[in-house]
Amino acid sequence: MNRRNFLHLLGCGCLSIGFQSCATAPITERKQLKFISEAKLNAQAKQIYEKVKKKEKLINDENFLSIKEIGKRMEDSISEYFYQSNLPDPTANFDWEYILIDNKKVKNAWCMPGGKIAIYTGILEITKNTNGLAAIMGHEIAHAVAKHSVERASRNVVINVATQVTDILTGGKLSQVNRTTGMDTVGLIRQMGILNPFNRKQETEADYLGLIFSSLSGYDIRETVKIWERMKKAKKGKEPPEFMSTHPSSENRIKKINEWLNEVILEYPPIKTS
Ligand SMILES: [Zn+2]
Repeated sequence: MNRRNFLHLLGCGCLSIGFQSCATAPITERKQLKFISEAKLNAQAKQIYEKVKKKEKLINDENFLSIKEIGKRMEDSISEYFYQSNLPDPTANFDWEYILIDNKKVKNAWCMPGGKIAIYTGILEITKNTNGLAAIMGHEIAHAVAKHSVERASRNVVINVATQVTDILTGGKLSQVNRTTGMDTVGLIRQMGILNPFNRKQETEADYLGLIFSSLSGYDIRETVKIWERMKKAKKGKEPPEFMSTHPSSENRIKKINEWLNEVILEYPPIKTS
């Protein structure tokens, strides 16, 4: 085995699982460990999404209209880009859907596997305008397009198995600790930041792909930097925006986005869709 193959195995973590589970993220071509069925995950996401829709107060105002419009433009632009690039469309099995949840306290947005998107009214104070909203949506959609949840779920399984193996090797000590303290070891491992909530590589990838998808859809991606700055400002107030707890902001992130801006604007201009 040459060094390159070895690095490949090591980098992807496919040693024990086999080559079939190796995949690459679209555009960035980062290696991913994926062996959980995407269809299954999408089906689960759909169920949860339905529950959210029943539980939350949804609004259908002009903001919701612009969310749907941005979403539709991104759906079409993403599919068109992969079609024109002669690449498989990662969103082919998506069943896109959008909701605007009436909750000013929650400054957050998410996109579940399969394209199930939710925006909370609270984050509209930070996005401020269409380009800002497109930046947040592009980032969240990028997590779904790059199948970060499939990757995370696959890793979860590995960690679960690893915990069980450790448990056997230590004569069930971990289980004993859990029983006596009521602590969930797997939960603790997650808290250590390994899966919390997307890892740093995935966040960087979502930032990069999000810029590309916004630019392809014809939005001004220079607003992205301003959003992260507004987010930072909001953090200094009494209530830090929830988006920040799942999206660690740093000078480094803003710096990287700034470095990518011109390249993305030049290489991924607005794409014509039919
Ligand atoms: Zn993210």
